[in-house]
Amino acid sequence: MTDWQALERKYMMNTSKRLPVTLVRGEGARVWDDNGKEYLDFVGGWAVNTLGHCHPEIANAVAEQARTLIQASNQFYTVPQIRLAELLIQNSCFDRVFFSNSGTEANEGAVKLARKYGKLHLDGAYEVITTVNSFHGRTLAMVAATGQTKHQQPYTPLPGGFTNVEYDSIDAIKAATGKKTCAVMLEAIQGEGGVNVPEDDYLKQVHSWCQERGILLILDEIQTGMGRTGTLFAYEQCGIEPDIMTLAKGLGGGVPIGAFLAKERASVFEPGEHGTTFGGNPLACAAGYATLKFLLEHNIVENCRRVGNYLTSSLERLKGEFDFILEVRGRGLLVAMEFSRDIADGVVKACLEQGLLLNAVRPGAVRFMPPLIIGEKEVDEAIAILEKVLARQGK
Ligand SMILES: *Cc1c(COP(=O)(O)O)cnc(C)c1O
Repeated sequence: MTDWQALERKYMMNTSKRLPVTLVRGEGARVWDDNGKEYLDFVGGWAVNTLGHCHPEIANAVAEQARTLIQASNQFYTVPQIRLAELLIQNSCFDRVFFSNSGTEANEGAVKLARKYGKLHLDGAYEVITTVNSFHGRTLAMVAATGQTKHQQPYTPLPGGFTNVEYDSIDAIKAATGKKTCAVMLEAIQGEGGVNVPEDDYLKQVHSWCQERGILLILDEIQTGMGRTGTLFAYEQCGIEPDIMTLAKGLGGGVPIGAFLAKERASVFEPGEHGTTFGGNPLACAAGYATLKFLLEHNIVENCRRVGNYLTSSLERLKGEFDFILEVRGRGLLVAMEFSRDIADGVVKACLEQGLLLNAVRPGAVRFMPPLIIGEKEVDEAIAILEKVLARQGK
């Protein structure tokens, strides 16, 4: 049998800390490796596989589009991107959308839009306030936006125009706002930072502050969007309407696509000022349309809310059983369990052996981000494996 992992080590750049498993197939909430071993997938392609693996609606939409038109230049109109745009606008508070290929690119575009807005309406203001422990992507500008030194240090000097302040502190944002500020960019819940859920009124306060100062609020919903937190978009739970929102991860149900959406007054690009070769291409947009349509027509967001509550209460039960579990936090099917010791890597490896895929989001915390179509039975199965693994850690 081919040793894929040896070939990877030989030919590929050493960037991913991979677990020793080669995945070859997926269906629903399950994946299989090249030895035929089955796993229950609570990583879900990194909060991407909204409808699970190889959902027939997505597979059919992609296959049909692949036989019809895969790529065309944005110099022309193409149908799938217009259909997806209409569906997104009809189901959000925004007026206009731009499609990219990834989350990072969506955030880049959103920041460019905010800078253009600053040039037009805020006397040339260009600075964007972001938060410590945020994650906004890996281009140089988004590394500067991302408030984590481990992502920044190897690449200094970084592009300017970003200020990182404490998360979940309206005072920190107020103190950092100046004449040069054009926008605040935040995650509704910090995903990569450890599933950090802010106080209930935080986003509302930030939104009011931005309105008072006439600056833009960019909400990065790349991880929290597309139903993940129990509403189609997380901002719906905060009683706000941001000026700009970015999406990616779950948007294509597994096919790479990103987007940023904006209110009319913030949609200030002129023709030629921003663009992309692949963004909005028919194949990715057909997948996005199939995903969102299925999500809406089959109450998948409601399923996420119900099963998410069930997952959280099941994890809370484990917390009652093991003293070294400090906290269970999250919304919908974006949940983390925090330990009092740095055992997350060990827990993830032990669960992997038992057939459950999890993510160590911090040295002391594991993250759960399964497909939104899972049911209580699959949660029970995951909890049984986790309980067995945690029991070996002691009480
Ligand atoms: C994953 C993520 C990104 C980056 O998206 P890519 O598609 O990897 O470029 C940006 N922001 C948040 C909140 C994310 O979770």
